[in-house]
Amino acid sequence: MFYIGCHLSVSGGYENMAKEALSIGANTFQYFTRNPRGSSSKTPSPEDVAAMVSLIRENGFHAPLAHAPYTYNPASKDGHIREYTAEAMGKELRFLESIPDALYNFHPGCHVGQGVDVGIGFIADMLNSIILPDQNTVVLLETMAGKGSEIGSRFEELREIIDRVDEEKRCKVGVCLDTCHVNDAGYDIAADPDAVFTEFDKTVGLDRLRAIHINDSKNPLGAHKDRHEKIGDGTLGLDAFRRIINCGAIKDLPFYLETPCDLEGYAREIALLKSIREV
Ligand code: FE
Ligand code: FE
Ligand code: ZN
Repeated sequence: MFYIGCHLSVSGGYENMAKEALSIGANTFQYFTRNPRGSSSKTPSPEDVAAMVSLIRENGFHAPLAHAPYTYNPASKDGHIREYTAEAMGKELRFLESIPDALYNFHPGCHVGQGVDVGIGFIADMLNSIILPDQNTVVLLETMAGKGSEIGSRFEELREIIDRVDEEKRCKVGVCLDTCHVNDAGYDIAADPDAVFTEFDKTVGLDRLRAIHINDSKNPLGAHKDRHEKIGDGTLGLDAFRRIINCGAIKDLPFYLETPCDLEGYAREIALLKSIREV
């Protein structure tokens, strides 16, 4: 099954996102758990969430991917920011238990000068404090571009975070790979996706990989920038996406577009990707 969707706004509610996804030919979707600027969110109504769950069930969707706001920083130097982040993420995780098989993606964070190792320690502490061993939701670390002091642009750093999570909680931790970010981090996914996934497998383990953010990049390999481009219009190019979405190692994972598109643009990109998908 080719699970393909895009980033949608939660502002119209949960059922509305599932309807929007259907209207653009998607069979999964991603959304921010709250406004990306981090302002407070109203609590979603259980009826609205239940309506979304039945709609995605009826239509054979892959479970949606919730994305934590960019404003969270579990690796912050400031203890108050770390506490706020852990509390907010913990709350979101408890809410996500109302959505079967939900995935919850977050940016590992920026160490802001304390060093990668200190940052990694804080991120693992945060995960240990919010993950319950019996929860259903899997928490995903996103591969980052390595802008500023971002942690998670090297697969080794992701591995290190996972290793420091308590053993009984580790099965609830996975990775979401962003094609723009890994390119900007210096992994040549455009030229040889198989080699990149082999390296991921050796470093982290492919069984941890649970979702793909499918974005072209405005910048060349290793630029450490993180500027997404529309599929085919960037430095990766359409041929790269043909190889990536047909890669045996990852082709059954859900793919989420985060390109600079409106709903119509996403509909076109989804149709384009379906047309170059081989099976
Ligand atoms: Fe992200
Ligand atoms: Fe992403
Ligand atoms: Zn990005």
